[in-house]
Amino acid sequence: MFNNPEKKKICLICEEEFTPSIYNKKLCSERCRLERRRKWFRKYMKEYTITHPTYIEYQKRYFKENRENFKRNKKNWYKTQKGKQYLREVRSQYKYKLKNKKWIPIFPNIFPKELPVDYHHVDGKWFVVPLPTNIHKMNNGKSKDHLEKNNEWIEFFHNFNVTKFLGSDPMELQK
Ligand SMILES: [Zn+2]
Ligand SMILES: [Zn+2]
Repeated sequence: MFNNPEKKKICLICEEEFTPSIYNKKLCSERCRLERRRKWFRKYMKEYTITHPTYIEYQKRYFKENRENFKRNKKNWYKTQKGKQYLREVRSQYKYKLKNKKWIPIFPNIFPKELPVDYHHVDGKWFVVPLPTNIHKMNNGKSKDHLEKNNEWIEFFHNFNVTKFLGSDPMELQK
């Protein structure tokens, strides 16, 4: 019972059918292999921080001391081929989700066609508002800051108060 080239398998990560080049392959592509490594690492770190609580403190301190470096590296990374590819994929995911109406835009895109636009999640779940990419990117991440700053921009561009719209109990931001 050796290599059967006709035999198809289901990839553990993307769950799509593929023909393995080597009999015992479980993942379809380099991409899925990378994703699995990432998953493994995340799980490993989770367990590690539980068994080594001081590590979190150390990491926080390290991050604080090297914040400028991290920022610069990230900025530079976005300019590399991989970074650009990543941005392209994220943007197309935005568009895909919009197309499938999983996200609800509160406003149409009022910005000129040439201007790249992001759809900012005002509640982290359903409602999105178009904002120019460079403005949206200025306060990156999932932090509270990201919400607050972008709410100000929404007020500026659309004359619309998100906090009032969501009521006094805005949902947690999660993607
Ligand atoms: Zn796969
Ligand atoms: Zn956003």
